[in-house]
This record gives sequence, C-alpha cells and structure tokens, in this order.
Amino acid sequence: MQGGITGQELSSKKAEYLKYIHMQGDVVKTTEIAAHFSVAPSTVTKALTEIAKAGYIEHTPYHGVRLTSRGTEYARFLIRRHRIVALVLSRHGLEPEEACREARKIEQCFSKDLTDRMCTSLGHPMMSVCGGDRARSPLLRVFWRVPRVTAKRLCRLCGKNLDRYQIRSEIDEVAG
Ligand SMILES: [Zn+2]
Ligand SMILES: [Zn+2]
Repeated sequence: MQGGITGQELSSKKAEYLKYIHMQGDVVKTTEIAAHFSVAPSTVTKALTEIAKAGYIEHTPYHGVRLTSRGTEYARFLIRRHRIVALVLSRHGLEPEEACREARKIEQCFSKDLTDRMCTSLGHPMMSVCGGDRARSPLLRVFWRVPRVTAKRLCRLCGKNLDRYQIRSEIDEVAG
C-alpha cells in the first residue's frame, strides 16, 4: 500500500480515530474512543463502520475494533505526517504544545508526496517536537526521537534511503 497512499483517504476526524486506535495498541472499545474524543458513541460507531468498510480496521464483536495491517501502515503514515508538520511549525516560532495542536488542524491538507518532500527538505529529522500521539510522558512527548541506528539507513519518517543524503540532527534546534 505504501506507494498508494495519497494522504487524503480519511477525513481528519477519522484519521484522529485511527491514530488513537494505533496508539492504544490492540482492541479498542467504541465507548473508549467516544469518551476520549468527547463525542456520542453512535457518532463514533458510524465513523468506525465507514473506516472498517475502507479496510483500515476490523470489528471484533462485543469487544471493539482493531487495526488491520493496512490500517497500521496508514496510522504510521498519519503519525509521521503529524510529526513533520509539527516540526515545520516549530521552526516558525511555535512552542511544542502549540505546534502539536496547530498541526492537527492542518495536517490533513498535506499529501503523502508533500510530506515526503518536506521530510527531505528538513534533512530527514531524527526527532520532532512531540511524540505524535504515542508518548505519554511530557519528557517523551518533547524529546521523541527516531532510533538513530537502522540497518538499511532508511529515513523513519519518509522511508527514503539515507545513504545518498546528509543526515542532519534537529536536536539542538528543537531543544533550544
Ligand atoms: Zn503532536
Ligand atoms: Zn525522511
């Protein structure tokens, strides 16, 4: 599916649900999602049914929903896009909290292709300003970073082979 992602497959609300399910790890109850986003369970159920129909999640009767492999791949892309957009905003004067919040409002507009090109132009950053939606401790949220050592030296954000690229760390800039 990697090549087929455009970034516009899901509405921003559905994308947030997908990221949340990914963050929870396994089966997530509909009521839990509804509570987290402060929306009616019926609203969530309707959205989840559509997301399931598109093949990103599957229902487990009486338990909730879980990601399919397609959903997992897409959720990873969504989280990477969020981190790239937040990092860009932080470079324009926003504090980490603000950058994270504002990124959520606009990230939906960024295509996969644009996200990848921004990753390249940022020098395939090793870290972003937030933990996307995964890290729970404030420290991890601010200092989220991609593991430095990867066997194939692929960028963890856009998947580009880094052998041809100068790897530049964002640590000083972001932490400063
Ligand atoms: Zn964030
Ligand atoms: Zn990259």
